Amino acid sequence: MTQSFFDEGALVAVLTTQPLDRALDYKAPEGGCHLGAFVEVPLGPRKVIGVVWGPGKGDYDYAKIRSVIRVLDAAPMRQEMRDFLTKAAAYTLTPMPAMLRLATRAPGLGDPPSMRKIYRRGTSDPDRMTDARRRVLEFLSDYGDLSFTLKELAELSGVTSSVIKGLVALEAVAEEDSPRDLPFPHMDPERPSKDLTPDQATAASQISAAVKAGDYGTTLLRGVTGSGKTEVYLEAVAAALRAGRQALVLLPEIALTAEFLKRVEERFGARPAEWHSGATMTERRRIWRMVGQGQAQLVIGARSALFLPYQNLGLIVVDEEHDTSYKQEDGVLYNARDMAVLRASLVGAQVILASATPSLESWANAQSGKYSRVDLEARFGPAVMPTMQTIDMRSEKLPSDRWVSDALKRAVDVRLAAGEQAMLFLNRRGYAPITLCRACGHQVGCDQCDARMVEHRFLKRLMCHQCGETKPMPEKCPSCDAEGRMAPVGPGVERLGEEAVKLFPEARVAVLSSDMYGSARALKAEIEGIAAGGADVIIGTQLVAKGHNFPNLTLVGVIDADLGLQGSDLRAAERTFQLMRQVAGRAGRAEKPGTAMLQTYQPEHPLIRAILAGDEEGFWRAEAAEREQAGVPPYGRMAGIILSGPDVAQVFDAANMLARNNRALAQVGAQVFGPAPAPIARIRGRHRVRLLVKAGKGVALQGAIAQWIGQLRLKGDLRLAVDIDPQSFY
Ligand code: ADP
Ligand code: ZN
Repeated sequence: MTQSFFDEGALVAVLTTQPLDRALDYKAPEGGCHLGAFVEVPLGPRKVIGVVWGPGKGDYDYAKIRSVIRVLDAAPMRQEMRDFLTKAAAYTLTPMPAMLRLATRAPGLGDPPSMRKIYRRGTSDPDRMTDARRRVLEFLSDYGDLSFTLKELAELSGVTSSVIKGLVALEAVAEEDSPRDLPFPHMDPERPSKDLTPDQATAASQISAAVKAGDYGTTLLRGVTGSGKTEVYLEAVAAALRAGRQALVLLPEIALTAEFLKRVEERFGARPAEWHSGATMTERRRIWRMVGQGQAQLVIGARSALFLPYQNLGLIVVDEEHDTSYKQEDGVLYNARDMAVLRASLVGAQVILASATPSLESWANAQSGKYSRVDLEARFGPAVMPTMQTIDMRSEKLPSDRWVSDALKRAVDVRLAAGEQAMLFLNRRGYAPITLCRACGHQVGCDQCDARMVEHRFLKRLMCHQCGETKPMPEKCPSCDAEGRMAPVGPGVERLGEEAVKLFPEARVAVLSSDMYGSARALKAEIEGIAAGGADVIIGTQLVAKGHNFPNLTLVGVIDADLGLQGSDLRAAERTFQLMRQVAGRAGRAEKPGTAMLQTYQPEHPLIRAILAGDEEGFWRAEAAEREQAGVPPYGRMAGIILSGPDVAQVFDAANMLARNNRALAQVGAQVFGPAPAPIARIRGRHRVRLLVKAGKGVALQGAIAQWIGQLRLKGDLRLAVDIDPQSFY
């Protein structure tokens, strides 16, 4: 049995978020501390926050060991959370301090419990009554035992705050401390749900039974957009709530819409906790604390919600499980979908992976029986899948500054005449992907990265999509000094918007692109306005493919269906297939049937044909066979190693050294490829070199990689990042 409490003076190992390679020994403070306690400890001249990770090692002179300064006011980190972080760190080869940082993103964690002053009716009456005083006291009497903040009370009774302060001094008004972080309202699973279709009911009861049983298990819930996956998993959430356990619904950030939250609120009668990038510090602090105390039963959140300190987690839903935004590509490289499965397996919770177009990984796990699989076959109600067709761009002969074919234009005209909405989809932000000098052919690139600058006319800047660097549009060519010869080449959504305005002069055209709105909130508001009928023609990037309902949308035109076909990425085909199916799924969600038209120069390409035929199982089987043949994920293992630094020769030397000294990898049968310049060879002035490790499916790759990269001493500004199961090859 592990010791769970340490008396004053006992040695404890404290893990901090500082980049050290081990937990450090400290003496337990006065009053002792629990295993898992959040503590403040001295580190050199500083004070840092850490977690009591276990008994101290005791390999250091006891007299010189310092004491924990204080135990913080937060529930100790649970064993299962510590196990989760340890296993996640081992899987992703992330140092523990960086992993701990993900789990301590609680604003004000080190602060005393946050209190605020509240005011209620006091015990005495003032000797001298004024009009203002009377208003306050009458107001408080009217509201019985309710209490208010100073600001509320002043506003509601129409007096200044000094009047209230005066009444407090006379004890006519009582001032009290009340915790600022309040529990979340109760979520009621017994409120009526919608009447499920037989298909949906079967799916819901199967998954709910698993939730009730309280063991770990993962279910792939597949069904086309609109088939009722959300209805089904909300029933699983209800089952978790009934069992007294917490539930987490993970969504891609952009899918966290007011529309979705309203549905949840209707089902359970209260608003859940919402954990996303737009949440304020105060909201975050409240969620973190209440989740830890079991006083937030349901959390709806983006991927980092996985690291909240749940007290009793019974269900994790990963909606749109194939979405690439679940893979964190910065800092700790983890895939929230996979980490959700790990976390659930440690606490006996169920996982639901919901998607219309699952990732090949999840599909294969369901095929092999590792996951259960539930399918919803039809769209709910009268809505049917859209008709899909291609437009052969070879016969359209468009001028070079036009992208909407006549066939597509005619189809849009028909919808507009019928008072319906049409969407033109192009997965390219900005005005034009290339800015070229017509005199010398120079293309404007980023000074920091190996990337072209993309014109954003809306922002009136050129922008690098790698590092975010912007600069003004040059008037003269930076290379040959010719004036007035810089020209945009190719379309981005902004430019497509211009074309749409010309083609459909009567229509209201809206361009939806993540960079055109000040905040996620503003963007969501815009999407909601459009869904409610605020535009006739919608121009959008992939963000419109994600989970939003446009009930009046009946036509989707894909401007360039070939964009994803030529990628060198192993998942290019899968991604294109998913994206095209999803975008098409936006059309005809309500009563009106939809059509999707794909503009392509390669209508006979097998992938385009698979998209058109809608033969998903066929597509997956073919894709799986190809990957199995090549021994790549999910039928083999891969890891990317990216070395980066300001000096290109030094980076290559280090990479070559690793490539040559590959014994640790060879011993487990893993191969290393490279070094090669990474597809983006320079980002923010750092040169990037990549090694790719490939191994068979059963190989314990992490141990071998840890041993292998352990040979390299990282000197100076050289950095190394390991990407297990890389998703993108940047
Ligand atoms: P998905 O998550 O698969 O895209 P949703 O759960 O969002 O599908 O369902 C699509 C639409 O159909 C939603 O507006 C939903 O409220 C409605 N819907 C689905 N199933 C039912 C049902 N059994 N009764 C009433 N409305 C339903
Ligand atoms: Zn750049």
